[in-house]
Amino acid sequence: MSEYNWCHGPNCHTTETQSRVRGSGNNKVLRTIKIKQGRYNGYQDGIWDYFCNNRCLFDFIREHITSIVAIAPRREALETPIKVEKEKYESYRHGWINDRHVRMPYQATRTVIKSVDND
Ligand SMILES: [Zn+2]
Repeated sequence: MSEYNWCHGPNCHTTETQSRVRGSGNNKVLRTIKIKQGRYNGYQDGIWDYFCNNRCLFDFIREHITSIVAIAPRREALETPIKVEKEKYESYRHGWINDRHVRMPYQATRTVIKSVDND
């Protein structure tokens, strides 16, 4: 297994940066970026082992989106069972009485989404 990947961005080799310049004299080129595998220790499931930057990643997705979604097509919505509960809690309103700032306590309500154990 090689330790490097070439960036998979379809336009990587057209971006004008010094880091892409290779060759000498009148035989210079812009070359696709060479990426050291594991450079971010698997951050975001290793996606940055294949793309030098966000632009190259999205160029790739734009060019291959139809093929990418064909790998695992979503033909219906997924659902996660939940419970929605109302919860009361102590809160404060801020106001002014006789030019004095006051914190006025009141009982507030918030909606909480709770996961449901299906087992
Ligand atoms: Zn790139």
